[in-house]
Amino acid sequence: MHPELSRLIDEAETVAVLTGAGISTESGIPDFRSPGGIWSKFRIIDHSEFMTSEAARLEDWRRRFFMEDQLGEVKPNRGHQMIARLIASGKSPAVITQNIDGLHQVSGVPDEQVIEVHGNARHANCTFCGARHEIAECRQMLEATGKAPVCRQCGSIVKSAVIMFGEAMPEKAFARAVRLAEDCDLFLAMGTSLVVHPAALLPKYALRAGAKLVIVNREATELDPLADLVLNGEIGELAGD
Ligand code: NAD
Ligand code: ZN
Repeated sequence: MHPELSRLIDEAETVAVLTGAGISTESGIPDFRSPGGIWSKFRIIDHSEFMTSEAARLEDWRRRFFMEDQLGEVKPNRGHQMIARLIASGKSPAVITQNIDGLHQVSGVPDEQVIEVHGNARHANCTFCGARHEIAECRQMLEATGKAPVCRQCGSIVKSAVIMFGEAMPEKAFARAVRLAEDCDLFLAMGTSLVVHPAALLPKYALRAGAKLVIVNREATELDPLADLVLNGEIGELAGD
């Protein structure tokens, strides 16, 4: 690990970590901006279209199954492992992530210590009663009926647990993230361009509450001038073992 980063972590009492797509690129998942990433290939289906159109739901599920297949093959990397160790040591209460890939959990962080502000692609929920459905189960339903999956309990529309465009942010998760930002004395932003709100606000809340800010990212971000330490480069090299 970079010696300055290591020193700041040693000196801190409570570390808040925020991760973006950049923490997972070393695992082989393209970030938002990479040309050819799946995000640039697909037309956006927003929440209201999903809820009102069976054709949109079928198309969304087709993408989810594609992603599920990809997620089955990816593994956490040195960046995820460093965060998992920080959390296991008790120094960091939770990791806040914009990612939907579930790799923090796979790296060993307990579910309740991963604050997912954009949801999770590894499962689905009923849009009415909230019952959890596995993606594999949804796939079986779609294959058996040719229709978009519906809730096994109440028959309502089932939707992947990813927060869609036009859908409300998960309020509880975001409130937890804000509390953590305000309670930490070191805020560590890793692999996020810090442009997607509201996650981009979290480092500012931390700074306002007196915390130090470290940014680890390949490219510059708008918050760099406010940071105590900016490390530009690969997360695995700068933060890993
Ligand atoms: P972003 O793509 O806007 O920013 C990622 C940043 O990470 C970029 O600035 C890039 O330069 C940097 N980066 C990439 N690889 C890196 C590496 N190995 N080391 C250091 N820096 C690296 O991503 P964002 O800020 O998370 O926002 C994009 C949105 O897209 C989020 O809402 C997220 O939910 C979604 N998304 C999620 C995933 C995922 O779950 N893995 C992947 C792509 C996009
Ligand atoms: Zn239901």
